[in-house]
This record gives sequence, structure tokens and C-alpha cells, in this order.
Amino acid sequence: ISRLKARLAKSSNPFGKALFNILAKDQLAESDWEDVEDTLLLADVGAQASGELVEELRRDARIVGESDPAQVRTALRGKLLDLVGRDTDRSLNADRADANTPSVIIMVGVNGTGKTTTAGKLARLFVAGGKKVVLGAADTFRAAAADQLETWGARVGVPVVRSDKDGADPASVAFEAAQRAKDEQADVLIIDTAGRLQNKANLMDELGKIRRVTEKNLPVDEVLLVLDATTGQNGMAQAKVFAEAIGITGVVLTKLDGSARGGIVISVQRELGVPVKLVGLGEGPDDLAPFDPEGFVDGILA
Ligand code: GDP
Repeated sequence: ISRLKARLAKSSNPFGKALFNILAKDQLAESDWEDVEDTLLLADVGAQASGELVEELRRDARIVGESDPAQVRTALRGKLLDLVGRDTDRSLNADRADANTPSVIIMVGVNGTGKTTTAGKLARLFVAGGKKVVLGAADTFRAAAADQLETWGARVGVPVVRSDKDGADPASVAFEAAQRAKDEQADVLIIDTAGRLQNKANLMDELGKIRRVTEKNLPVDEVLLVLDATTGQNGMAQAKVFAEAIGITGVVLTKLDGSARGGIVISVQRELGVPVKLVGLGEGPDDLAPFDPEGFVDGILA
């Protein structure tokens, strides 16, 4: 957690620094409030949330009769934490009591967001926790995607179910992977999928079918949407398409190591009504961490 905090603090620095400079003043002038709002916008907190937040802070400051920056800072921290959700349940639903029924996690998201990488990291996390994992390469559109997942499988010591044919039916790979996970009495099955957004109808068909066919063998516990934090508010439009196509239970926000824009956490949760559960902090196998609201907000305000 402290490593996460340090890295988030580092990654969010431009944002935190701007807020720090504003809130280091003795009194807040009109233009300072605008600067606070602009800074929140730049951090991808989203127009509506940023506007409401600053409006509330100003109202509170008026009631007190002064705008003491230190108090504003404390109030801002509290409000950001409320927005991010301090007590939201972010646990992964992957601990089935029934030993014979593996938990199923389907990874969805636009290509390039870090889906395959996150599937590999997640496998590693479960293996480290003593769980038996199977990976399914249901991104059959590009052979390279299955190769990449296989590399991750070898790296973390987990079998990968794939098709040898390019363009094979992704749902049949998902079906076989579920079968294999059952046969091997695995604890968790993680299915990687393709994310071509060009054709929304196809995408919806494909993801819907993967889900239905998997469910012939096993119930699906989690559908994790992988979002690239560096795409900022553009990621929201993508997110909505996937939420509509398959229904998502949580979000993994990747590439937070290279971005000052973690504020999208707030938009994602507000607009999709699902929690950000995990964050990607790099390309390595251990660069995946549970999302920590306090560390995140302190990173923003650092
Ligand atoms: P996919 O097409 O969605 O499966 O995306 P990939 O898993 O292939 O990832 C695309 C690129 O993003 C790769 O170069 C990954 O190494 C990189 N990547 C994934 N997650 C992260 C992250 O959290 N931080 C950074 N810096 N890079 C990441």
C-alpha cells in the first residue's frame, strides 16, 4: 500500500502541485476557485463532478464566512474521498466456497488498454495467494494476442487455453477454457477477450456469446473492464459501450504510473455505478494493486 501511495503521489504530482500552490495562499480569491475547478478538470475528475465539488466547497466557505485554504484543503480531501467512495466494496469476487466450481473472471476493454497484461498480472496475484489458475485466450482475432497471453502463462506458471487457428470462434475457446478449469479443479479462470470497437454490434455479439457459452460450464463472477487512465475522459465513452455489451462488475485502471489523470476514477464510478477495483502501475508482473481510495486522494492532494 505504501508503495502504491508513493507511486500514485508521484504520478499525480502535477495535479497535486497545482492544488497545493492555490491552497497555500492566505485567502482564496474568486479566480482561485476557478483554478481549483480547472485543476480538477485537468485531472479528469469530470465536468459535472468538478463543478459540483467546487460549488459545495464555496458554499461551505461562505457559511463559515472565510475561505481559509487549509480548511478548504481538508474539506476537499473529505469530498474527494466521498466521491471516490471510502467504504466501497472493491474485493474481487473470486473466492467460491465450492471447491469444485472455479470462479470466472472475464477481462474486457479496447485493445491496447492493457487487458492481456492485466490478465497475466491477475493470474500472478492469485498464484501468489496459493490459488490454481487457468487462463483462456478468447482474443482469437490476432494470434499475437494468444501468444502474448501464453508468454504471461509461462511467466507466472499458469496453463493457457487457446486456439491454434487465427479467427477461431472466441466463444468456443472460452467454452474449452471453462471445461479445462473444471477438469483441473482450478480456483480461478481468467478469460482474455478482444476489444475491437469499430463495430459495436459485432463486439456486443461476441462478448455476449462468450458469456453465454462460458455459463454453460460455470457461472461468471466478475467482468472487469480494463481502462487506460491516460485516455482520460475519452475512456468513458468506451466504458459505456462495454457496460452495455456485457455488463461489468468492476474496473481496472491501467497506466496510472504514467499519468496525472487518475480523476477518471470518479467519473467511472459515478457514470457506470461500478467500483474501480484494481490499478495498473507498470508493465511488470507485480505492477497491479488494489485501488486504495485514501492513498489515491492523498496522491491527488500531495
Ligand atoms: P491489450 O491489447 O488490451 O491486451 O493490451 P496489452 O496488455 O497488450 O497492453 C498494451 C501495452 O500497455 C503493453 O505495452 C503493456 O506492457 C502496457 N501496459 C499495460 N498495463 C500497463 C500499466 O499499468 N502501466 C504501463 N506503464 N504500461 C502498461
